[in-house]
Amino acid sequence: MPYVIGYPRIGEKRELKFALEKYWRGEIGFEELESVAKELRARHWQYQKEAGIEYISCNDFSYYDQMIDMIVLLGCEPDEYKDLSGIDRYFAMARGDARHKALPMTKWLNTNYHYFVPQLHKKSSFSPNTSKIVQEYKEAKALGIEPKVNLIGPVTFLSFSRTIDGIDPLDLIEKILPIYRQILEELAQNGVKVVQFDEPALVKDPTQKQLEALKVYDQLAVAGLELCVVTYFEHALEAVEILLDMPISGIGLDLVYGKNNIEAIERFAKSDKKLIAGIVDGRNIWISDIDEKVKFLRSLPIDKEQVIVSTSCSLLHVPYTLRYEEKLDSNIKSWLAFANEKLDELRIIDKLYRGKELGKDSRLYEANKAANATRKTSLQIHNEAVQERLQNLTQEQKERSMPATKRLRIQHELLSYPILPTTTIGSFPQTPEVRKVRKDFKDGVISEAEYKAKMREFIDYCIKVQEDVGLDILVHGEFERNDMVEYFGQMLEGVAFSENGWVQSYGSRCVKPPIIFGDVSRPAPMTVEWITYAQSRTDKIVKGMLTGPVTMLNWSFVRDDLEREKVYKQMALAIADEVADLQEAGIKIIQVDEAAFKEGYPLRQENRAEYERVAVESFKIATAPAKPQTQIHTHMCYSDFNDIMPTIDAMDAEVISIETARNGNRLLEAFKNYDYQKEVGAGVYDIHSPRVPSKEELIKEIENRLQVLPAKQLWINPDCGLKTRKWEEVIPSLKNMVEATKDVRSRIIKL
Ligand code: GLN
Ligand code: ZN
Repeated sequence: MPYVIGYPRIGEKRELKFALEKYWRGEIGFEELESVAKELRARHWQYQKEAGIEYISCNDFSYYDQMIDMIVLLGCEPDEYKDLSGIDRYFAMARGDARHKALPMTKWLNTNYHYFVPQLHKKSSFSPNTSKIVQEYKEAKALGIEPKVNLIGPVTFLSFSRTIDGIDPLDLIEKILPIYRQILEELAQNGVKVVQFDEPALVKDPTQKQLEALKVYDQLAVAGLELCVVTYFEHALEAVEILLDMPISGIGLDLVYGKNNIEAIERFAKSDKKLIAGIVDGRNIWISDIDEKVKFLRSLPIDKEQVIVSTSCSLLHVPYTLRYEEKLDSNIKSWLAFANEKLDELRIIDKLYRGKELGKDSRLYEANKAANATRKTSLQIHNEAVQERLQNLTQEQKERSMPATKRLRIQHELLSYPILPTTTIGSFPQTPEVRKVRKDFKDGVISEAEYKAKMREFIDYCIKVQEDVGLDILVHGEFERNDMVEYFGQMLEGVAFSENGWVQSYGSRCVKPPIIFGDVSRPAPMTVEWITYAQSRTDKIVKGMLTGPVTMLNWSFVRDDLEREKVYKQMALAIADEVADLQEAGIKIIQVDEAAFKEGYPLRQENRAEYERVAVESFKIATAPAKPQTQIHTHMCYSDFNDIMPTIDAMDAEVISIETARNGNRLLEAFKNYDYQKEVGAGVYDIHSPRVPSKEELIKEIENRLQVLPAKQLWINPDCGLKTRKWEEVIPSLKNMVEATKDVRSRIIKL
């Protein structure tokens, strides 16, 4: 009987998002928010029950984040929130308020979900608070459902925490063990029968200490309670060794993304543990090949009775349902499975695996077979021209011919920018007016001509501002873009968009990732018109602005019927076409953003070199058309570069701009230690804050950067794009940045 690790909670029409936002604006009270939440939980349980799922979760619901829920459950709210209680304290930790900062946020392993980081210390106190779980458990029971209770396991909870006194959070394991025990006892007393512990921290090259800590499960056995430990996103071979000896009943392994997990399965067969076999992809949106999945399950060296068919991870990472997709091409739709469609797959796979009658499910099964068959041959997916082009890449299409240092010499002469050149990362304020123009055009309220005229006005203003403040290298401002990935996705062949495919990113924030379903190509120029228009309005150089292939894929749902390497490279070729066209149109500097380069790194060390190879090769393909005279920039958002310098170097961009304002010189030092020879744009102020940095402050920041890299290698820019800021903030900030640079420059030149 099928198992679902967890189910999304934001609501198929984002009901929770809208209710939360109303509550925060004071438009509804907490009771109303609670009733929306309750309705959603009931609906979600019902869906799973109707789909024949046996292991349905409770406590996978959260008002904001399951890690914050764990902080409350364990009673370890940081002291600074102790003046608050209940839901006020909860939202203060999540979002901050006038007197409190929010907890820091970071990515949940390699997904685009962000969790909040518990702040602990040696003397952190803990006390269990099971009321949320007990309430949700009772709600489910009242609907005739016996749910498992989802908890984040102690090893993952601590591994994903930070301490304010610098101790290793895992040192607190003995301290939280009795709290977990007490929680389990209380749950058992309330009738709970199964508890699922999520321990995904163990898939990330676990340390000896983490593996040692895992042995606390030995002390978590509570009479009448069945415990399962689930892992996902990668293999967990080291952890399985230990878990097999623990008093738990089931272990969850990801058999989609953790191929090596297969090696552990024989060991299961010799134990009494259930294998929670994660075979339906919980984080991508393609239909399963049901026949393949069944065949795979049958091939496992383990008795059927020991296997529970499961999702590979929580369905939190995929949208709800295809039911509301009315505009999506019907073929593409037939190749997709969102959360609810995955529930059906689980049921059918389970039935076939166990040799049961399909009954009414035969229709869905036949549809699955047919969709998989068309997916293999459809001309919507398979574009021979694209495939051939990739197959026959010439050396010139793979990389630039001249070494970067030599290119830089040519460019310095040709582009003649001053020492410490000033620039920005690309976007300028996306004001309500800008958004409205885009929306009006999309809704057909204004014509294309009107839209373009408006966009040109925005560009004119942006160019004028940049000239007035005295920046050296200008940009057009990106007003035509809603999002740096979606904008390009919408113009590429092989990429589709759902209407309602929202996925929670954090709290009430959702994203709707592009769907890369087929061979990718660029039918027509995407940015040339805007950028050449901007260039026509100024004598200064306007930098063209594109999103790189690695980031395009890392923020999309990527097809699973072609090696990822090929998809990266097809995307790279599409971008290369744009680079060529921009260059042809006279654009002298082109920036290819790779904001998501670092976050796409694999969880396991053993897979990093391959990711780096493919990412570097793809970036180089995307930028290969640039002649020695054309300068390529790239930009990466907050990333630690220490362990990836050879890779950054290999990308072969003349200039990389990075975020350094919030971390001083720490990130820049990697470039010095590596003896980096190309140029670096070091962010000198934080764009996340509305604060305008003063000239004096910026002089200090610039001087600081000069402690690390020589002036001839440095560019001066803000940390990232300015789209979330207001003009009133941007203009004085940039003015101060330029003035500060001139000040520092004059002293360098005198020397
Ligand atoms: N060019 C983009 C911008 O300025 C880069 C954004 C990003 O790195 N996240 O908005
Ligand atoms: Zn950035």
